[in-house]
Amino acid sequence: MKIVIGKYAGFCPGVMRAVSTVYKLLEEQSAGEISTLGMLIHNRTVTAELAQKGVAVIDRADLEEVFRRALAGKKQTVVLRAHGVTKDLLDQLKEMQSRCPLFEVVDCTCPYVRKIHHIVTENTTPEHTLVVFGSRVHPEVQGICSYARGEVLVVESAEELKNQKLENKPIIMVSQTTQKLFEWEKCQKFFKNICTNAKIFDTICSVTENRQKEAVQLCKECDAMLIIGSKESSNTMKLYDIAVNSAPRAYLAEDASSLPKSRWRYINLE
Ligand code: SF4
Repeated sequence: MKIVIGKYAGFCPGVMRAVSTVYKLLEEQSAGEISTLGMLIHNRTVTAELAQKGVAVIDRADLEEVFRRALAGKKQTVVLRAHGVTKDLLDQLKEMQSRCPLFEVVDCTCPYVRKIHHIVTENTTPEHTLVVFGSRVHPEVQGICSYARGEVLVVESAEELKNQKLENKPIIMVSQTTQKLFEWEKCQKFFKNICTNAKIFDTICSVTENRQKEAVQLCKECDAMLIIGSKESSNTMKLYDIAVNSAPRAYLAEDASSLPKSRWRYINLE
C-alpha cells in the first residue's frame, strides 16, 4: 500500500502561531497563570498537554474571576485564539488590561481573520448589508459579524443565498476563512448576476484554498482518503466533505488511536 501525505498537511500557520505563543509563555515565568479564551486548537493531544501544564480553558463568563485574581496580585495572561473574538469582547479585554497591569491579553487572532475585521469595519455603513458566507455558530463568523455597522446576514450555502431578497441593496460579501471553495465560487457567481452594486471580498485563506485544491486532486489519484483532524474543526470537516464526495473511500480520524483499523485491513486485501 502506498501512502501519499498531502503537501499542505499539518497545522496551519495561524494555529501554529497560537500554539507556539502559549508554549513560549509557559517558558517565560513572568506570564503567571495562563488561560485561553476557548479551546486554543481542536487537537486532543495538544489540549491535554496544555491542560497538564496548567493552561486553563475559560469562557467569557470566567473573565471577571480571572480579573479579580489579577487585582488581588496574581499575574494573569489571557490568550485569544486564531478565530478571533467579537469586537465588544475585545474592547472589554482591552479595558480590563488598561485597569490592571497584572492582567495581560495576548491576541493570537490570525492575520487572515484580522484582515476580514478590517474589511468589514472599513466597508460597511448603517445602509450596507454585510453578507457572510459561513457557519452561524462558528466563533470566527460571530467575530466578523460584530464589526459590521449595518444589517448582517449569514448564509451557509449558495442555495440559502439564492432565497434572500437582496436586489438593490448596497452589499458587502465576505467568507469565513475555512469555507468550501467550490460553494464560495457558486455564491460569488450568483451574486454577480443579481447585484451590480455588491462588493465581494475573497477572504477564504490561502492555506484553506491550497488544502482543498490538493484534496480534490488526491481524491482523483488515490483509492482512499484519510482526513486526520477533529470533528470540531471547520477546516477538517470541509476536507472530509470533499473526500466523502470525491474519493472512492473516505475516513476521518482524530489521532492514531482512532484510526479505523478494520477498514484499512480491508483496503489492504483488495
Ligand atoms: S485563517 Fe487560515 S491560517 Fe488562519 S487560522 Fe484560519 S485556517 Fe489557519
